[in-house]
Amino acid sequence: MEIAIIAHDGKKAEMIQFLMDFKAVLSAKKIHLIATGTTGKNAEKAGFKVRKLLSGPYGGDAQIAARVAEGKTNMVFFFRDPLDKHPHEPDIAMLMRLCDVHNVPLATNPATAELLMKSV
Ligand code: PGA
Repeated sequence: MEIAIIAHDGKKAEMIQFLMDFKAVLSAKKIHLIATGTTGKNAEKAGFKVRKLLSGPYGGDAQIAARVAEGKTNMVFFFRDPLDKHPHEPDIAMLMRLCDVHNVPLATNPATAELLMKSV
């Protein structure tokens, strides 16, 4: 199973904490993580194996959106920072739209991500 993780700068610490909380589940269920560049770097530093794509503003969200459309990514954890502006807002909207088009579970905050992880 492939799960994509993306966290805006103000949410990266929460993403790492979330991964730590579910470390056992991630390895027991053989979950393959992919991530936007900087989120992936942070996850690697915390000891997780993750395939890093481009950084979000350089197209990483768009790459993940493409994988969702192709049926390769099964779940998306996208911890958005609603209090910040993002130059790649169109890519963010595209990713969320494609999750809905293809009925792929999308968690935009840790509380929802936790519920999804419990169902894995
Ligand atoms: P990043 O991208 O992980 O490279 O910071 C996240 C985003 O802003 O979409």
